[in-house]
Amino acid sequence: MALVALGLGSNLGNRLLNLKNAVRSMERSGLRVMRASDVFETAPWGITDQPCFLNACALLECALSPRELLESLKDIEARLGRTMTRRWGERLIDLDILLIDSLIHREADLCVPHPEMHRRGFVLVPLARIIPDRVHPLTGRTIASMASDFPEELRICSL
Ligand code: AMP
Repeated sequence: MALVALGLGSNLGNRLLNLKNAVRSMERSGLRVMRASDVFETAPWGITDQPCFLNACALLECALSPRELLESLKDIEARLGRTMTRRWGERLIDLDILLIDSLIHREADLCVPHPEMHRRGFVLVPLARIIPDRVHPLTGRTIASMASDFPEELRICSL
């Protein structure tokens, strides 16, 4: 079994419901969700003329290979109604593989650790809520230390 950290995001429709439905779909697909972070409201990154996101992170136990996991997450995104928009654009649901144990995997369509995670407060701050002491296999830093590079307050959403 691998321990997998996932990033979840949504900025279209009922954003909180989309995140909750994604967690439910993962459990129905046999992925064991062990921990989930608070939900944070975050400003859009990359392309700024789009609605704010809700972001969260989850820790899963998973027996799938990295590629099987990616396919399973893409299936869940499609089932929840995600359609392709511009890169970094608005989306009903976005599921990203952040870490798989201390695996380093580099392919064009599957990079673990996620290649952008060290640059994104909206990933690191929620992730530090659930695995603060895990060491990022490329930076050698704990997630809590990496999150401290992003001291600006993210707004925690009310349920
Ligand atoms: P996104 O727009 O965030 O859903 O990502 C689009 C593409 O990124 C997917 O089709 C994946 O093939 C690719 N990708 C590469 N590395 C990862 C990763 N660690 N997690 C999720 N998608 C990834």
